Amino acid sequence: MHIWKRIGLLLSAGIVGGCSILPWGKLHAPESFGLTPVAPRIYVEAGADEATRTMLRDAMEKAESAIRAAYGNVISRPVVHACITEKCYAVFGGYGSRAKVYGDRILLSPRGLNWHYLAHEWSHAEMHSRLTFSAWWHMPQWFDEGVAVAISEAPENSESHWQYLVASDVPRPTQRELYGFKSLRQWDDAVGRYGEKKNAERKAKGEPEIRPVYTAAGHALRPWLATAGTPGLLAFIEKLNDGETFESAYQTANPSFAPGDATR
Ligand SMILES: [Zn+2]
Repeated sequence: MHIWKRIGLLLSAGIVGGCSILPWGKLHAPESFGLTPVAPRIYVEAGADEATRTMLRDAMEKAESAIRAAYGNVISRPVVHACITEKCYAVFGGYGSRAKVYGDRILLSPRGLNWHYLAHEWSHAEMHSRLTFSAWWHMPQWFDEGVAVAISEAPENSESHWQYLVASDVPRPTQRELYGFKSLRQWDDAVGRYGEKKNAERKAKGEPEIRPVYTAAGHALRPWLATAGTPGLLAFIEKLNDGETFESAYQTANPSFAPGDATR
């Protein structure tokens, strides 16, 4: 989740609280809060074993390759902060989620320690780096999330999870509904409404976890990215930066794409 969109939301609500700003400050002084350097731009919570350190170095390389494959090259240089305990994650402001991005700072929870979550948050950082503030502000949340889901290939949001949701008749957003999740608040509300925030309870009861909203975004974006390729994604970014509306840039950057109803 983008901290600036979160701050924008708080500003619009007139309530900028210290708790929203604090993690960003802490992430700029990670060694003062129990993290140690593993490699350039990677910090891990003190006490992490060598296997975890090696995994993080590998995850960074794999995530960077995925970003390069999608965007053609890599502009952003995020700094990664990996927590091996929930306590650490809470200290840096992570609650409930598996990973977060604050500008160019990525925070991974103990449940998000792999290249998939790193690449997901990195995609947000990369998109942010390539867009003007105005273009980024007007990009719908579902699109940003869909690109991140598709690029990061997380099994939790895969096509096979989508097929499971369809086969099990788990409620999921229609394409029209998905396209309406434009603001961070609308996205967050949908994630709650479709039950993605109750996976800890499901797991405790031995039930399968469900992620209908993130998975719907990935499901809708995969065919768009497959036909657009890197040139189409870059054309889309350029059009948005030139002031084109999202709807127009989404269509004209990828003229061969026929959307149909991608959430069926
Ligand atoms: Zn995301």
